[in-house]
Amino acid sequence: MLPPDFHVHSQWSWDAPLGSMVTTCEQAVRLGLRSIAFTEHVDFTRWVVTSREMLNSLPVCAEPTEVGDIFAPARLDVEGYLECVQACRLAFPELRILTGVELGEAHWFPSEVSAVLSSFEVERVLGSVHSLNMDFPQMVDYLYGQLDPHDLMRAYLSEVFELVRSSAAFSVLAHIDYPVRKWPGSIGEFDPGSFEDEFRSVLVALKSSGRALELNTTVPIRTQIVRWWYEVGGEAVTFGSDAHGPSEVARSFADAASMAEACGFRPGQDANDFWYRSRFL
Ligand SMILES: [Zn+2]
Ligand SMILES: [Zn+2]
Repeated sequence: MLPPDFHVHSQWSWDAPLGSMVTTCEQAVRLGLRSIAFTEHVDFTRWVVTSREMLNSLPVCAEPTEVGDIFAPARLDVEGYLECVQACRLAFPELRILTGVELGEAHWFPSEVSAVLSSFEVERVLGSVHSLNMDFPQMVDYLYGQLDPHDLMRAYLSEVFELVRSSAAFSVLAHIDYPVRKWPGSIGEFDPGSFEDEFRSVLVALKSSGRALELNTTVPIRTQIVRWWYEVGGEAVTFGSDAHGPSEVARSFADAASMAEACGFRPGQDANDFWYRSRFL
């Protein structure tokens, strides 16, 4: 049985125009998933559009029309989202459907975040970093042209460290290695060993915060990082496909589950739960 997918986007996320909660649930049932969380984006960061590449990647409904414009992502339509969740719960009784959000840079926006979290019952809260504050906030995805890749990864991990040691109200750290998605192959393969100290600092802080580590499978998290999580005493992991369309739900989960097991983590008592560290490795 595959682990629950606790990081999925649907049409209620501003960057998932191809998302569909209904079709995603159908796909989850087909795959035999027992549980899924729709963790829609909640972003308060506003980005300056720094390149044509970025402009072209924004949703068609987005306002910016030129490089240099400011992009403010659409707010989550909580009412519409909850109605859709409710309809899916009725249509797919065999699937446990959890509500959720993915908070971008939650440590920069404490009051906005607490307003959202108190506006409805959120069952899964992911904490993410997608931005670095240069002279102004910029999306990590478009910084490779401006920063050396190693400097970019270090700056990213240092921002993640700030997020993790903050009191921001999230329970799972999403995609600890997010910049790897755009790592330039021309400089050789990404090697987590080059950033061991930085990863370990984040993991130690995460452990003392009592939060869980997500094994994101968009670009599957490297085994080494999960081993370090076990070594520093990390208690729990979750699995997240970060699907932005139905076909991506639970992608590479069989491999991720075997890897987590090899690193010392086991399913919880309840199949819908996180996975926890085993006393015996
Ligand atoms: Zn994310
Ligand atoms: Zn996501």
